[in-house]
Amino acid sequence: MGIRTVGIVGAGQMGNGIAHVFAVAGYDVLLNDISEEGLQKAVATIDRNLERQVSRGKISAEDKAAAMARIKTTMTLTDLGQSDLIIEAATERETVKQAIFEDLLPHLKPTTILTSNTSSISITRLASRTDRPEKFMGFHFMNPVPVMQLVELIRGIATDQETYQTLLAVVEKLGKTAASAEDFPAFIVNRILIPMINEAVYVLYEGVGTVRSIDEALKLGANHPMGPLELADFIGLDTCLAIMNVLYDGLADTKYRPCPLLTKYVEAGWLGRKTQRGFYDYRGEVPVPTR
Ligand code: NAD
Repeated sequence: MGIRTVGIVGAGQMGNGIAHVFAVAGYDVLLNDISEEGLQKAVATIDRNLERQVSRGKISAEDKAAAMARIKTTMTLTDLGQSDLIIEAATERETVKQAIFEDLLPHLKPTTILTSNTSSISITRLASRTDRPEKFMGFHFMNPVPVMQLVELIRGIATDQETYQTLLAVVEKLGKTAASAEDFPAFIVNRILIPMINEAVYVLYEGVGTVRSIDEALKLGANHPMGPLELADFIGLDTCLAIMNVLYDGLADTKYRPCPLLTKYVEAGWLGRKTQRGFYDYRGEVPVPTR
């Protein structure tokens, strides 16, 4: 089935990046959020990021203008009903995602494909609560979306081959590369990445290293482009904690228990870059470790 119009729910870090790449690839995008300020911020971010691509010669000024013209915003979720494809990229909480799909269902075309950008929640379970589990998939973009090459495609137990092939073609049109993962907690990338970040927080918690020494060690000692704590701030500490909890609950193994220090940062509202403070404080000229 051909996809032309895309409805994106959630205009945070991921939603704005997803809107950006779909608009550049020629899709009409309708972006939804519960916060008007969030929508305005998202459009400003997309504009700024497209401008950076123009200045680097990656796209032309005309391409930028055309992409911006393809993006519309709305605070009314049901406006997205006529989209060919829905990408849910709201907060990583199952009740939030479930409520979004429930509200959308009565307004959808029968052919609309539903997807979630969830980092960890069961696709099969989200799909089972809709009227079209065969047209439901995990569509997992990486952060920052305009830069990262990979998209994980996760089939629920009921997902049909046509839906999978349609999304595979969409990934190709975006100029990205798909990796297919089975529907088990946190799929491939986050099953490996987030426990590593959680372990880095334990190393900090136990006093084995400081924020700086941990990040330096992994950058210079394991050739990682970013240290694990820097990366955690980039992903969002609330998202990291939510994924650890999904692994802990879903796999029932104590090796996935979230570090209490990670919980404490989230309880403080120090969620990383998006709140200007996490393992680093971003309010000054240069990031300063908070421990
Ligand atoms: P974020 O906190 O930056 O954005 C979430 C947005 O969802 C906010 O703007 C919020 O207002 C909005 N929202 C909340 N409830 C809503 C509702 N009912 N209707 C519409 N909008 C609603 O979070 P994010 O980092 O963009 O993450 C979004 C999703 O993407 C999560 O499922 C997360 O697991 C996944 N994800 C995140 C990353 C990452 O690195 N941050 C990477 C891949 C996938």
